[in-house]
Amino acid sequence: MLTIDGFKQALRHAQSEIEANKDTLTDLDRAIGDGDHGINMSRGFEAVVAVLDDDYASLGDLSRKVGMTLMSKVGGAAGPLYGSAFVKAAPKFGDATEADFKLVKEALLEASTAIKARGKSEVGQKTMVDVWEPFLSDLSEADDFDAKLDRLVGETEDMIATKGRASYFGENSRGTVDPGALSSSIVLKAIMKEVE
Ligand code: ADP
Ligand code: MG
Repeated sequence: MLTIDGFKQALRHAQSEIEANKDTLTDLDRAIGDGDHGINMSRGFEAVVAVLDDDYASLGDLSRKVGMTLMSKVGGAAGPLYGSAFVKAAPKFGDATEADFKLVKEALLEASTAIKARGKSEVGQKTMVDVWEPFLSDLSEADDFDAKLDRLVGETEDMIATKGRASYFGENSRGTVDPGALSSSIVLKAIMKEVE
């Protein structure tokens, strides 16, 4: 079950993991982008943690607030993508104050669909979509979530980017893990840990 407190805990955990991986995210984005993804995500999740002391009536309210915060604070390409993910997951959570595995999966599927719609992107383009969509498409409660996420992040290394800034690197984008894929795995791991 994911409760409101559990969701808050997941977001705090995500923030500390992003902080711990800030330099890695920045290095990856320096290799196939402009080197700001670690800074962008760190700024965004610090702002998220700052709104967690407020009271929320439902998981939907909290998810909407998180999305709005990420949208305004992360910046870059990733800000609107993460922002719309949490905003679009909110109606699926609705008024619920706790969500079982099935509802969490449905809400995260809405988030994944929102990322693809906002980014006009699909699997195989070496973006965060390569983590979100395959992670959720056949997700089962029995899965080893962390192992699956690690595998999906690793699989972006051999891909050639055809969306976002990394696409300017063409063939040279091969050989580097996508930074947004790594940050997505961090966020999803933190959420799934609270659902278990
Ligand atoms: P920017 O590229 O503007 O500097 P960030 O560095 O914060 O923004 O984020 C880059 C990440 O955003 C990429 O690693 C990729 O995962 C994701 N991304 C960029 N463009 C798209 C897109 N069109 N669809 C999905 N994800 C994208
Ligand atoms: Mg960048």
